[in-house]
Amino acid sequence: MRMSTLFAPTRKEDPADAEIASHRLLVRAGFIRMVARGIYSFLPLGWRSVRKIERIVREEMDRAGAQEMRMPGVQPAELWQESGRWDAYGSELLRLKDRKGSDFALGPTHEEVVTSLVRDNLSSYKQLPINLYQIQTKFRDEPRPRFGLMRGREFVMKDAYSFDVDKQAAHESYATMKDAYHRIFTRMGFDFVAVEADTGNIGGDLSHEFQVVAETGEDVIVRCTTSGRAWNVEKAPISIEDAERDPDAQFAELEVVKTPKTHTIAEVSAFLEREASSIVKTLIYLADGEPIAVLMRGDHAANEVKILAHLRASGLDCAELVLADDVTVSKVTRAPVGFAGPARLEVPIYADLSVRPMVDFVTGANMKDRHLTGVNWGRDFEVSSFGDFRRAQAGDICADTGSPYEEFRGIEVGHIFYLGTKYSDAMSAKLQGEDGELKPLEMGCYGIGITRILAAAVEQSHDGNGIVWPMPLAPYHVTVLPLQARNEEVMAEAERIYAELRAAGVEVVLDDRDVRAGGKFKDAELIGFPVQIAIGSRGLAEGQVELKQRAAGDKVLVSTDTVVAEVARIVREGLEG
Ligand code: ATP
Ligand code: MG
Repeated sequence: MRMSTLFAPTRKEDPADAEIASHRLLVRAGFIRMVARGIYSFLPLGWRSVRKIERIVREEMDRAGAQEMRMPGVQPAELWQESGRWDAYGSELLRLKDRKGSDFALGPTHEEVVTSLVRDNLSSYKQLPINLYQIQTKFRDEPRPRFGLMRGREFVMKDAYSFDVDKQAAHESYATMKDAYHRIFTRMGFDFVAVEADTGNIGGDLSHEFQVVAETGEDVIVRCTTSGRAWNVEKAPISIEDAERDPDAQFAELEVVKTPKTHTIAEVSAFLEREASSIVKTLIYLADGEPIAVLMRGDHAANEVKILAHLRASGLDCAELVLADDVTVSKVTRAPVGFAGPARLEVPIYADLSVRPMVDFVTGANMKDRHLTGVNWGRDFEVSSFGDFRRAQAGDICADTGSPYEEFRGIEVGHIFYLGTKYSDAMSAKLQGEDGELKPLEMGCYGIGITRILAAAVEQSHDGNGIVWPMPLAPYHVTVLPLQARNEEVMAEAERIYAELRAAGVEVVLDDRDVRAGGKFKDAELIGFPVQIAIGSRGLAEGQVELKQRAAGDKVLVSTDTVVAEVARIVREGLEG
């Protein structure tokens, strides 16, 4: 490929909404362009890398015995009604109508389609196990699309679904996929961990997330310092003290105090000179659109998975729990955001267990720039029920080993679930077992965020000048940079090296543009070609060109006679890992 014809519009400026390196660099290096919030075009460089990610995934899925197929993006509502998810999936499901007024959804995932397919087309358990996968565009109307490709609304996913005759066989399918995922992310050069995860609204009881370790990751992971087992913080078992309040406690008087411009717990804590653990924060959630309040100790974080489970266990038939928007918070508390408190709040109040033993705590006053001190539940407000709502954090005690957790952040690039019979029961996907009895199929589902991987790779590998592609994911392996575009000798040598590298099977871009050497180097660094060959008239006079590996950074002079063989070797070794 010649740079003069390659559609790779590089840019000097960061996109205004970019918060993380991968978003900035993928836009600046001309890999992607935003079309609408969370919806992107992949330009030729971006798409080449996506195809390489897909290829690794395909090879390992095929090797693990899965079969590639393709299901539609547009799915009829009836299938989702059968599984019960037409209502349960909430507003992430983008719904639409056809010209006759029939309901459809843009597929965020394909359990319904694949379960009905297998149900209607398999007749004997002897045809099991079967694992079907596709690489396809998904749509999820995410509440907070951000970070470029990380959390898009339209994105490419590899999704696979296994069907087995019984639980043991399903667990074997799960283990096979877990191995395949290890190979996939190793081949991509990631520093990653498989963490035990919550199963969310998919259900089932065995699930691992594959997390690429990155400061900017949206997920927080805790790892037990003795066992080394890692968990998503929503799932990590913490040992919780379920203490009662001292029955003889004397309550102080409730007081309104001025707390100008203190919105966060840290600000209130500093201003009032009170420990965060003596402050109670009031979180307003919408449970299927109805506001509720959740009280947490100031130094703790809320786990929405636990809150939702508690609401359901308390008899509230709630499908979706989301943090309320600012407008709702202001309406419910009749105050600006940052001053919510439980006293005189007219919504149900649920409190974390660690709030139960607290006496004379601090809360918001539901008034601008005011907090309350000397607050006590039972006297100043009623609690509907107490529950364990805490999210694990660094220093919490692992319930399995009694040792403290350490914490780090990750980007979820893959997720595997054992589903059990959740969908096969709901959709009546049954087969006769060996004993002649009709049994629901045992299922598993396995996702990989193909386009999120593109961003994760950049997040894990970049520097101040641009992207540093690992060889297997680089859009091209090598760029050839003739430094004086008008020098015939330089151009002729560049053309020769370019042609010979291509003949050797190396993917190479010749920067044949008539621009200054500085501009060529800048773009080469930004785009992140793993290998640069710079050809200048001075070096050529000595029969030499300059070779630079992007990751290592140092430049070496190489003879024009050996450069092609040398570069072909570097590329081959980089691809082999
Ligand atoms: P998350 O917790 O990040 O929302 P999820 O649990 O909803 O992920 P799955 O339903 O398991 O994700 O989807 C499989 C994979 O698809 C994820 O592991 C992730 O890599 C990718 N993925 C999910 N949502 C998005 C998104 N909005 N944008 C890009 N990739 C995504
Ligand atoms: Mg999600």
